[in-house]
Amino acid sequence: MIDGALMMDADRAGRTRARVVTSAGEIAETAGYQQIWTPLLDALNSAVFELGLKNIAIVSTPCAAQAVRRMTDSTLERLAAYRNAIRLNVAMFCTGVYQPDGLRDALTNGMNLAPEQIARLTASPREGKLHAQLWDGATREMDLVEAEKFTRAGCARCDDYLGESADLAIGPVGARDGYATVIARTPIGQAAIQNAVTMKLLETINDVNEGALERASAEKDRRARAQAFDQLQVMALDALRDPRKLAEVKMQFDLLYGRPRALSKKEDYRYAGCGDCSGC
Ligand code: SF4
Repeated sequence: MIDGALMMDADRAGRTRARVVTSAGEIAETAGYQQIWTPLLDALNSAVFELGLKNIAIVSTPCAAQAVRRMTDSTLERLAAYRNAIRLNVAMFCTGVYQPDGLRDALTNGMNLAPEQIARLTASPREGKLHAQLWDGATREMDLVEAEKFTRAGCARCDDYLGESADLAIGPVGARDGYATVIARTPIGQAAIQNAVTMKLLETINDVNEGALERASAEKDRRARAQAFDQLQVMALDALRDPRKLAEVKMQFDLLYGRPRALSKKEDYRYAGCGDCSGC
């Protein structure tokens, strides 16, 4: 189905990077998704134009999967080479990624580890821990809150937890220990899963905690609301320059806060006389 994949990897110095892989052995070697910001699509030109791959899988965060979907849905001629080469869009469930430099300092101070000792990082929101797997096989952990202050600013407003633009979305939410939840969102995603099962590359069980997935979606609604509040602030600033936009601001305000109750004459300060203020 694919002749290559664009994935996240890490070098021996602990720096994450995009990597183009063309064999199952190379896929197994990669460090995979680690919740550290990595500009994955940087390597797409190399996959398409240098290696000439024709059926590429891209394994990324949900926001990068949105970008991939925009490319594959676009009719722009300039994007045709990418559109024709991308076969499978895979997103990992994502609650946010960390700034690499800040996280490196946190690991050094919190776990007393040099970045080059770490082979892989995995966050476990359920346990509130960030786990580090070391190249020598040992594991270490630190409190997730210590790492969370290095989350990229945009992630606090992201409303795509579960890779809604991808063909396949994969992550630990709702899955038993040792398994992952897989959501096939498109026919090509379903075909990929079916192929893997037929070839006995994947063991499946029908045991998903749907409540956990629903809670993840509720979190998404909370973030969508945060975005609406941001938008209200921008609209209010626009209305300061252009009072004709005031009606739009009022409408958005009513949507978010509910329509304010009309004040009685007694409650409205414009009708009240002077109070106890001793200012004058
Ligand atoms: S939380 Fe959202 S914006 Fe941040 S990396 Fe994940 S998908 Fe992208």
